[in-house]
Amino acid sequence: MRPPLLDPLFAEATTLTGIGPKVEKLLKGLLGVNEREVRVGDLLFHLPHSIIDRRRQPGIAGAPEGAIVTLKVLIDHHQAAPTSSRAPYKVYANDDTGEIQLVFFHARRDWLEKTLPVGETRYVSGKVEWFNGRPQMIHPDHMVDEEAFAEMPLIEPVYPMTAGLSPKTLQKAITAALDLLPVLPEWLDEAHLAREHWSDFDEALRTVHRPEDPKDIDPASPNVARLAYDEYLASQLALTMVRSHMRKTAGVARQASGALKAKILAALPFELTPGQTQAIADIEGDLAAPTRMLRLVQGDVGAGKTVVALIAMAGVVEAGGQAAMMAPTELLARQHLRAIDPLCEAAGIKAALLTGKAKPAERRAILEGLESGEIDILVGTHALFQAGIEFKDLALAVVDEQHRFGVHQRLALQSKGHGVDVLVMTATPIPRTLVLTYFGDMEVSQLPDKPAGRLPIETRSISLDRLSDVVDGLKRALTSKQKVYWVCPLVEESDVIELTAAEERYATLKQVFGDQVNLVHGRMSAAEKDAAMQDFKDGRTRILVATTVIEVGVDVSDANIIVIEHAERFGLAQLHQLRGRVGRGDKQSTCLLLYKGPLGETAKARLTIMREINDGFLIAEEDLRLRGEGEILGTRQSGLPGFRIAQIETHGGLMETARADARLILANDPDLIGPRGQALRVLLYIFGRDEAIRLLRAG
Ligand code: ADP
Ligand code: MG
Repeated sequence: MRPPLLDPLFAEATTLTGIGPKVEKLLKGLLGVNEREVRVGDLLFHLPHSIIDRRRQPGIAGAPEGAIVTLKVLIDHHQAAPTSSRAPYKVYANDDTGEIQLVFFHARRDWLEKTLPVGETRYVSGKVEWFNGRPQMIHPDHMVDEEAFAEMPLIEPVYPMTAGLSPKTLQKAITAALDLLPVLPEWLDEAHLAREHWSDFDEALRTVHRPEDPKDIDPASPNVARLAYDEYLASQLALTMVRSHMRKTAGVARQASGALKAKILAALPFELTPGQTQAIADIEGDLAAPTRMLRLVQGDVGAGKTVVALIAMAGVVEAGGQAAMMAPTELLARQHLRAIDPLCEAAGIKAALLTGKAKPAERRAILEGLESGEIDILVGTHALFQAGIEFKDLALAVVDEQHRFGVHQRLALQSKGHGVDVLVMTATPIPRTLVLTYFGDMEVSQLPDKPAGRLPIETRSISLDRLSDVVDGLKRALTSKQKVYWVCPLVEESDVIELTAAEERYATLKQVFGDQVNLVHGRMSAAEKDAAMQDFKDGRTRILVATTVIEVGVDVSDANIIVIEHAERFGLAQLHQLRGRVGRGDKQSTCLLLYKGPLGETAKARLTIMREINDGFLIAEEDLRLRGEGEILGTRQSGLPGFRIAQIETHGGLMETARADARLILANDPDLIGPRGQALRVLLYIFGRDEAIRLLRAG
């Protein structure tokens, strides 16, 4: 049960004056709130990114060009423009030092006469511009009388905005939300607070929203740091609670003699790399232990994670259990099944694919096979978590290329089996702080080495003006039977435009290469995509024009050229993922980055990094440096998904402390029932990490 004192923060934002359904919709986008209404509390975590300083009061004559100033003036006279002319409306005002014109376009005369009455004193604040030696202020931001001026904050927070929302509306809503902030119990340790010079939670919030000094909104300031720490602590508490719950309900040791593994190894056309062997050994250790496995396998694109997963799954199958493997897209799920099926057959393992597109009869047969235990391995998308799918004995869940495997997903998995072991695979070299953020104390295995014989991919950047040279190059490549991916530009916000671009490129290439070219894009049905991939794999087509659907995981090991059009629009992580579609065999591969100039600084830096670095780990480091952590996780928005205040670059150092703090707290009070425990429950609700509370005995 949510503590009633939090009710005001959980009230719908539309209960605030000035926020109707239209504004709420804009706020949803701005605050990143999906799937529920915007709450009063959400507004409080929308922090200003800068300030406008109105403290300067130099007098009219002393107001510097272009500066924001506040002036105390006497209104002298109004000069309305003749209705026929486009000239602005002007109000002349003065102080002891000189005269200024206040300038208005499309002015409403009656309103201006009321706001700036002749003969009275007013305070105006805005930007001063000097025009032919005379100062002007165009559309002052504030025009108030003595009384209102006393209330006016001279330092004004500026918030991240969205089109259509007025800063004043947002400002007012946040102020109203602050007024509703209840007095909350302190959940941090007093000594810790004193050591860091942090203030109370509510004081910290008030200070950032009502800054009295530019440093009050600095992310490194004690105020913001306190809030970021609270957010980390909430997340670490939730993860630790789920983890200890998982450990408590755990207890299935899956002991395999390795017979199935041996059969798979014998059927593999290659030797495992040392990294693969080590990761498999780590996993076997976890599976044999009576605790639940929660392991992340990190390996660069092409490192060979699939086979590691397969051998893990074979282990639990041999011990009598079942495994599920979840891919981010249906295309990848199908590819996974195709990759593992021959090996499963060799080992006598029954694998099946379940997607949303399965026909009812087919689906029923699969569900029956799962319940009876006839099917050993089920491959699908993340929908396997949700749908009404019952396993006879689900022992292992493999989650491929999914960076977020948080509290929510873990709880969903709880319902699918007893003590299900979890293996997450990712090509994204997630920095340690982020592993902690998303997975808590998940174990990590790395595949540091690529399979033997792989050559570094040669990467070149070429201006789009030289498109015809590139096409000529492809003609030569095709005569020597090479295979080419052609990735079409990423179009933010519109997959329709993205599709059009791909179709156009497909049409032009088809004129040159005829039936050797094919197209694959996200709007195609799964079967169509599949057929296009299979034709390419089998060599019936040799150039595959694609939208970014091929971004992760697609494996055609003899494709060795990739052209990425408008490479300047992609992030580093994405470019590296795309490039990883080639260089998967023992032939020399090439990546051509086609860009449209002129390039901005960041785009230039990205292309240079791509040309010079082949290693995903180093690229991720550069990425973090260039873009911040959002990009690392493949998201386009800035900031950490799921985190509203904490920023890794500034607050990352607090994460370890929060983690240690969370462990200590739960060691002393595992059910959060003491006074501090009760306060911490409030914290969990405030940051939306309360799902974990359900796991507590006294919850
Ligand atoms: P990723 O780690 O990107 O998921 P995959 O598992 O798709 O990589 O493997 C990439 C390619 O490398 C596949 O064609 C796979 O069969 C092959 N492969 C995997 N392990 C090895 C190995 N030890 N030696 C040679 N090829 C391998
Ligand atoms: Mg993969």
